[in-house]
Amino acid sequence: MDTKIQIKDRFFTPYISRDEIAAAVGRIASKMNEDLAGKNPLFLCVLNGAFVFAADLFREIKVDSEISFIRMKSYEGMHSTGEVKQVYGLQQDISGRTVVVVEDIVDTGFTIQQLLKQLNAHNPKEIKVATLLFKPESLKCDVKPDYVALEIPPAFIVGYGLDYDEQGRNLKDIYVVAED
Ligand code: IMP
Repeated sequence: MDTKIQIKDRFFTPYISRDEIAAAVGRIASKMNEDLAGKNPLFLCVLNGAFVFAADLFREIKVDSEISFIRMKSYEGMHSTGEVKQVYGLQQDISGRTVVVVEDIVDTGFTIQQLLKQLNAHNPKEIKVATLLFKPESLKCDVKPDYVALEIPPAFIVGYGLDYDEQGRNLKDIYVVAED
């Protein structure tokens, strides 16, 4: 776990090992198994980044539950106030249900804030947010993930589903960008 890797024009160094990730995922899964018993939650994995995390997390979930997949895409045709992303792929009727959003990383929080707003419009009973990684120092929105596997400082990372320009999602460990 001490090899520097190159993805396109950048170098990355090992940061969080697969064993540390597995332990952290196990910890939040245990908490979720306590909190979500009897609620038949619907897990909504936010593609693409969360697919590896969601696969590992969901297999640690012992309560009756379902999983489905959504995507946040930038909304074309909006200008001015920054990027507006829209939810695609929501197949289920979530009204009255307990929903668990599964995210790869909460950075500024804008993505999760927009997602929660749009999902809340469908009148779920409650929405919980589970994220693999959380960068609290980067947060610019009033959102607080309910289940955080790992908190990290504001550095760019890849691996375990997260990408640098679509590459690196297949890495089993998490790597951090190296200083130039
Ligand atoms: P936010 O809207 O700023 O919270 O960003 C959320 C999205 O940005 C995540 O779902 C990721 O796709 C991407 N992202 C944020 N930080 C990183 C990183 O360090 N590595 C890879 N992707 C990231």
